[in-house]
Amino acid sequence: MRKSPPPRILPGSINQLFRYGLDILLPNGCALCAEHVAARGLCSDCWLGLTHISAPFCARCGRPLAHALPESLCGKCHIKDPILTQVRSVLIYDDVSKGLILPFKHGDRLSLTPLLVQLLRPLFDAMASDGMIIMPVPLHKARYFSRRYNQSAELARNLSASSRHIVHFTPNILLRHRNTRSMGGLTSKKRLQNVSGAFLLKHDSLDALNGKNILLIDDVLTTGATMESCARLLMTRGKAASVSALVLLRVM
Ligand SMILES: [Zn+2]
Ligand SMILES: [Zn+2]
Repeated sequence: MRKSPPPRILPGSINQLFRYGLDILLPNGCALCAEHVAARGLCSDCWLGLTHISAPFCARCGRPLAHALPESLCGKCHIKDPILTQVRSVLIYDDVSKGLILPFKHGDRLSLTPLLVQLLRPLFDAMASDGMIIMPVPLHKARYFSRRYNQSAELARNLSASSRHIVHFTPNILLRHRNTRSMGGLTSKKRLQNVSGAFLLKHDSLDALNGKNILLIDDVLTTGATMESCARLLMTRGKAASVSALVLLRVM
């Protein structure tokens, strides 16, 4: 099948136009290298190039472990009980998986949604339960208007709509009221400071969260500072029973 590396992501509208063209001309092209495949998705080479996160990993924060540990907890979760009940991620963020998320997030490639939902589906089904509230990590409205969609909400909405559980997709209670600066290059401590106080809960909707189990959905997990900040707010102000998180890619 494919021998050459995936095409480089070109900036801006040229790349978007190119990909729109490919989507129309090659509806069954591999999402990464455009190689013909039997059904929409990835060719076998690109599929094998993705690094799935598998055991052993920390039972709480989901961090991959070099070897299985007693109680399956990483050192950090062993020392301090994390606010999130469970965090799970599908893939390691690397040069291959980056080729899926960057066009989806910054290149208007919403046609990738079914493939990304398919990748998230097994973990979503394992983590979701009847009555659960499914929430995307919100974008600030300025970023929403420039991007025109929230990529995490697209994933959460599609996962909820086709879930085998009775879940409640709830995108409008958790809001981002401060437009945090890009977190690239920031240390864990700086990231936590950057998102601290960035979120709020819609005042008249708090009853909907009281005593509920919540599953947060996001596309990329870096240090977990954003998830922690959301979870703390949902647990303290929203009085949720538990908050877990599912993300597509984890930065190592
Ligand atoms: Zn491919
Ligand atoms: Zn851990």
